[in-house]
Amino acid sequence: MDLNLKNCKECGRMFKAASRMQRLCERCRENEDKIFLKVREFIYDNPSTNVMEVSEEMNVDEELVLKWLREGRLKLKGEGSGYPCEKCGETIQTGRFCGACSHAMSNELKAGFAPKQEEKPKKKSKGADRMHIKR
Ligand SMILES: [Zn+2]
Ligand SMILES: [Zn+2]
Repeated sequence: MDLNLKNCKECGRMFKAASRMQRLCERCRENEDKIFLKVREFIYDNPSTNVMEVSEEMNVDEELVLKWLREGRLKLKGEGSGYPCEKCGETIQTGRFCGACSHAMSNELKAGFAPKQEEKPKKKSKGADRMHIKR
């Protein structure tokens, strides 16, 4: 059995995924890439556009546009053209979080890693170990 066989999220066709992240068959992925390039061009030509407008003008799912923005593949530029930060709701124009949240999160991440290092077991000598065994 091939574990990489998946059903395409778009057309439902069975396909062989090159990676676990791949959710579209080759044909749909190429199609999505074409749409992506068009959307990117549209935003480039209309810098003050917003997600809703892109979705309407390009006939693309808003969710898809948002996905690309969250992945950082697209970036909005216009005033008031953003979408909410996933954490605090602040308006952002690319990525998943606003500057403050991603900053806070990277700090949390660092803080989360720090205790781990402290918890590292101290090197024990075999002799010391033996002394603690009680029978
Ligand atoms: Zn497909
Ligand atoms: Zn935020």
